Amino acid sequence: MDPSALAARTGRVRERMAELEVDVLLLSLGADLPWLTGYQAMPLERLTMLVLPVDGEATLVVPRLEAPRVEPHPERFGILAWEESEDPVAFVADLAGRRPQRIGISDRTWATFVLRLQDALPGCWWLPSSLVTAPIRAVKDPAEIDALRRAAAAADRVATQLVGGDIPLVGRTEAEVSRDIGDRLLAEGHQRVNFAIVGSGPNSASPHHDAGPRVIGRDEAVVCDFGGTLDGYCSDITRTVFTGRPPIEFRTLYDVLEEAQAMAVAAATVGTRCQDVDLVARAHIHDAGFGAHFVHRTGHGIGLEEHEDPYIAGGNTVPLAAGHAFSIEPGIYVPGRFGARIEDIVVATDGGPDPLNRVPHGLALVEA
Ligand code: ZN
Ligand code: ZN
Ligand code: ZN
Repeated sequence: MDPSALAARTGRVRERMAELEVDVLLLSLGADLPWLTGYQAMPLERLTMLVLPVDGEATLVVPRLEAPRVEPHPERFGILAWEESEDPVAFVADLAGRRPQRIGISDRTWATFVLRLQDALPGCWWLPSSLVTAPIRAVKDPAEIDALRRAAAAADRVATQLVGGDIPLVGRTEAEVSRDIGDRLLAEGHQRVNFAIVGSGPNSASPHHDAGPRVIGRDEAVVCDFGGTLDGYCSDITRTVFTGRPPIEFRTLYDVLEEAQAMAVAAATVGTRCQDVDLVARAHIHDAGFGAHFVHRTGHGIGLEEHEDPYIAGGNTVPLAAGHAFSIEPGIYVPGRFGARIEDIVVATDGGPDPLNRVPHGLALVEA
């Protein structure tokens, strides 16, 4: 990770801390810490926490045995490696300053540490660190866009295999296909598989169906939604295929969905409010008579985490900014029968929406 990029991020975070009158950030689990330091805390009962005051020196409190994994950047943060017999909560409280103040703490910090810190720092106001970091993290810098583009390209290679009929479906269980897709994500360059949803037949109508023992048959819709992490950044793509000849009702549903997805992508221009992008897809699906069957938001931001700001959802009045990266993934689900979803990752740019996924959207008939 480029140290100057990390330093620039820290600068922006401190500016926003000052605006929001947050005196100190305590960053533990989650993506804020690696985003600022390049180091990811282990999800352990041993506390790892960056103490970042609005000004003054930052310190990473880390278990002694994890310390060798920290790449030192003494110009940006000191390292306090604590021994097994010591109390890291006391160290954090000392570094934060034991006085009433406003503290932002990582949203994902384990309650066991939050409760002990609240005991050690009485009279403080506690806020989620995302209040400070989320809007800044949502705007990706060029290196981050590049990483997202590489992750998307790797996921695209798997999706191309799917729509090209190169991933056998009929006669295999959803779970087998899910494992196969995961293996292919790794083969195409991801370091980690985050999920591989496979919903076939009536299960395609369940948006987050857990790939299970159901054997995929002929003449069925199969929704495949998968993603992984490549060089720290996430991919996330959905394609729906049909194993045979779709009934006319499914074709109609799919055409409406394909139009809605394209319309929402086209609407995702800089300055457009997130809720208005959501509304474009929703209105089109509603007008076609499928409104009751689109049961989730249109999309979510993506970066170091699969789901992060900005959320493309009703009620989110935040306008898109250049550098926002997010999914556009409407779906239509007819319970008990079939469903479909199409998902691409899109970056808002001053030149218009830039879809990172390029696999064609047309309904792919596989094993027909
Ligand atoms: Zn989802
Ligand atoms: Zn997805
Ligand atoms: Zn998604």
